[in-house]
Amino acid sequence: MPGCSEAGEYRAPKSRTSLNEYHWFCLEHVRAYNAGWDFYKGMSPAEVEAQLRADTSWQRPTWPIGSLGHTAWSEEELKDPLNILGAARMKNRERPDPQRPPAELKAPLETLGLSWPTTLDVVKSRYKELAKRHHPDANGGSRDAEERLKTINLAYAAVRTKLSTEPRMAAAG
Ligand SMILES: [Zn+2]
Repeated sequence: MPGCSEAGEYRAPKSRTSLNEYHWFCLEHVRAYNAGWDFYKGMSPAEVEAQLRADTSWQRPTWPIGSLGHTAWSEEELKDPLNILGAARMKNRERPDPQRPPAELKAPLETLGLSWPTTLDVVKSRYKELAKRHHPDANGGSRDAEERLKTINLAYAAVRTKLSTEPRMAAAG
């Protein structure tokens, strides 16, 4: 930072388009820089929207089931001699209480401050918010922030995996 005589021991990315190039700041100035950092700076609302959507699917293309060459999948045309899909439907019908989170998600949901049921979009947006707030770079390289971020990452992975592998459950919300 011009005029600053402190040692530049903390790095921060120069811009969205050069995330691997860094400015080096003293603690006080890296905090000020991070506080003013806005990844979406200079993007139009449409570009921000596109970025958020791409993030939701980890930058990979997605499409609704059945949209590739077929309007929808028809159960009549589906060969399912072992009635696997029927069994899955039965299992879902027996689910006792959709308002209660699966046992393994209780702690992760608490970490993320989310209630159940929830959706991938909600989880994703809460995660972005928490990851930004607790990122070590936004906390002067704090070890505590690093630990908090690790916990948040694990919680996010657990909830995201559950929602991705059990779409019916996600739809309950
Ligand atoms: Zn400084």
